[in-house]
Amino acid sequence: MAKIKPPKQRKFGKGTLRCRRCGTHEAIIRKYGLMLCRRCFREVAEQLGFKKYF
Ligand SMILES: [Zn+2]
Repeated sequence: MAKIKPPKQRKFGKGTLRCRRCGTHEAIIRKYGLMLCRRCFREVAEQLGFKKYF
């Protein structure tokens, strides 16, 4: 019986978080339920009225 392990997937945190705007999964911000990457957050933040980001 060979041990077959499922391929390891690189995940960030629980599940794969993806930017709901551009689909990337780097630097996803879940704060405030944004689910956006840093870049999109920056753009959206301006629209939302956030003047400061990090
Ligand atoms: Zn994005």
